[in-house]
Amino acid sequence: MNNAIYNFPLPANEPVLEYKKNSPERNQLDDELKRQLRNPIEIPLIIGGKEVRTAQTGQVRMPHNHSHVLATYYKATEKEVQMAIDAALEAHRIWSDLSWTVRASILLKAAELISGKYRAVMNAATMLGQSKNIYQSEIDSVCETIDFLKFNAYFVSRIYEMQPRSAFNQLNKMEFRPLEGFVFTVSPFNFTSIASNLNMAPVMMGNTTVWKPATTSLLSNYYLMKIFQEAGLPDGVINFVPGSGALIGKVALASPDLAGIHFTGSNTTFNYLWKEVADQLPHYKSYPRLIGETGGKNFIFVHPTAVPKEVAVNAFRGAFEYQGQKCSAASRMYVPVSLWTEVKSELIRISSDATMGDVTNPGNFINAVIDEGSFDNCMDYINYAKASDDSEIIAGGNGNKSVGYFVEPTIIVTSNPKARSMEEEIFGPVLTIFIYEDNRLQETIELCNTTSPYGLTGAVFARDRVAASDMCEQLRYAAGNFYINDKPTGAIVGLQPFGGSRASGTNDKAGGEFNLIRWISPRTIKETFQPATEYRYGYMME
Ligand code: NAD
Repeated sequence: MNNAIYNFPLPANEPVLEYKKNSPERNQLDDELKRQLRNPIEIPLIIGGKEVRTAQTGQVRMPHNHSHVLATYYKATEKEVQMAIDAALEAHRIWSDLSWTVRASILLKAAELISGKYRAVMNAATMLGQSKNIYQSEIDSVCETIDFLKFNAYFVSRIYEMQPRSAFNQLNKMEFRPLEGFVFTVSPFNFTSIASNLNMAPVMMGNTTVWKPATTSLLSNYYLMKIFQEAGLPDGVINFVPGSGALIGKVALASPDLAGIHFTGSNTTFNYLWKEVADQLPHYKSYPRLIGETGGKNFIFVHPTAVPKEVAVNAFRGAFEYQGQKCSAASRMYVPVSLWTEVKSELIRISSDATMGDVTNPGNFINAVIDEGSFDNCMDYINYAKASDDSEIIAGGNGNKSVGYFVEPTIIVTSNPKARSMEEEIFGPVLTIFIYEDNRLQETIELCNTTSPYGLTGAVFARDRVAASDMCEQLRYAAGNFYINDKPTGAIVGLQPFGGSRASGTNDKAGGEFNLIRWISPRTIKETFQPATEYRYGYMME
């Protein structure tokens, strides 16, 4: 047993490569894209380290060309979910007892594999399977995934340093036990890095997981699972179980060994899981930890002293990168009438310049939304706005799903600050703008604060620094990630820990100590060197 006290140093963030034409990284990526396009694969379940195939299959198709099949995957039935729970509980015995530096070394090895050997694989799978362009894929499936892995190893050393005080006659220790049971991890389609971290954060702390990946991100998620295995993750520590969320959720939540849920996705799904857990509470061995990051209705608030061009560029990027399918994407904006003409003309200019299409054409800023359900949902909001007297569409407004699920980046201007698209999460490329009279600044800030149930991200633009600070104060609970003169997307691990409150989740800040701490159940151990030998206290013997 090596008794050295070891701390992992603060890592640097993974550099974002440029992928310029003819660069080595671009050539490798182009080859890998061709390989994955030509060779559809099979995606089995991976339970206890073994590949499992069932009688039920589905297909992974490209959102931007839905006739193209990238993979056939196998769906779990109740039997395989139970097998996954059993495998996780079995692996818990060894994993929870393993030296934490060994656990950390597996995460760091996975980070190295993604940074080098599998960089092109992760990028190509995320680009093709989730319709991300090169840059969006690089910052997610490579850089953020690596950052989560490396920073977790660093943060955990800081957590383990925390110990209670001791005295000469006693020794006090805190043992950082993993949770007792298994963690059910449920990941969304939109970030490969989130799928990785939902598993690897609890795993770093000694837990084992049953992972239900989103069906629309299975290609990249499967490669991730294979990389974890290659990095040395023991069998059963993470069990990869694609299939129906409702079915897998039902079996996982019925287990008395459910120790926690690590979820990212919609508010509706998280509310459902929470309610199911509450209904079955007496049946669990421990209170399951419920950690969930959910939706948003993220705002940009423009002060009359803002710079119009900065507002327009950041609104366009913040609202439309990855087709508005970032939980942090801007989807409502408040602009003073004094700046509107300039902001509007710049927004229209950028909208007519940005092109939409296949991810393999690097010139395209916009690609497809994830699936037909998302396409129909976006078009429903757009058509609703078209039919409303209080709304006007100033850019985009069209969609076409004949080849891929393409929705034009759409800008709605409304005179109704409570219009449907100002309040509800759409999760697509739709930005709604309310123009306010400059002398109604205060009441418009209050409107911004109270219009939606969410509290994920928000940005204010102002040259007047005192005004910016004032807005930061007044919008204190409107966003868990708040930006001054920047777009509300693009949080980086170690720099802007991420998560929102209100209906946006439990705000346990992915990518930091706050989240990792949720995956341990500390035990305090007191040892006394002079045990009592007299039952009476001194004052009783006077
Ligand atoms: P979703 O809720 O539809 O699905 C998320 C996951 O839950 C998927 O794996 C899905 O299969 C699974 N699921 C669905 N029903 C289930 C059930 N009954 N039991 C168990 N699992 C079930 O969300 P999505 O469409 O994949 O992702 C988009 C949503 O995620 C948006 O609302 C977005 O804002 C949110 N999101 C939030 C953050 C954040 O950090 N706050 C990050 C990314 C995405």
